[in-house]
Amino acid sequence: MSKLRPLPMPFDASLINRFRSFYAEGDLEVCWGWEGAATPRGRGHFGIGDTTYYAPRIAYALHHGSDPHPYHVCHTCDNPRCVNPKHLWLGTHADNMRDRWAKGKGMTQGRRKVWQKDVEGIKRLRAEGVPWRAISARFGIGLTTIRRALKGPYPWETSTYEQSDSQ
Ligand SMILES: [Zn+2]
Repeated sequence: MSKLRPLPMPFDASLINRFRSFYAEGDLEVCWGWEGAATPRGRGHFGIGDTTYYAPRIAYALHHGSDPHPYHVCHTCDNPRCVNPKHLWLGTHADNMRDRWAKGKGMTQGRRKVWQKDVEGIKRLRAEGVPWRAISARFGIGLTTIRRALKGPYPWETSTYEQSDSQ
């Protein structure tokens, strides 16, 4: 996980032109797909100097004229390549985690990533009376993590949760 960094604002005209060359502005109702660099999971990237930033953060900053830091830029459209400012909203890290979980993405519990489908599978096995230890072995997940994944507290509900990780 990389730390959320402030953006190097203000942006100069050549940087803005370079950024805009990687997508086409279109109708505000549809996604504007980032065609520049991206991670294998489709998160758009944009380099400024030696640092790589999440492209939707830059898009948000360009549109609103201010750095979203320390907030996270989240998508209403769930498309990590989208840089349409109308599809971007600001949330805390906790908001982002909760949103991702609600959309079927994994959450980090302790050091492990837990997926919603795992939690569904665990619930099913429990309903069938399979012992906790057997479930733990089958999923390769520790008992504490399993209990938290089923009952909470979820990472975003704990006050100690770090606000500045990732995205
Ligand atoms: Zn979109």
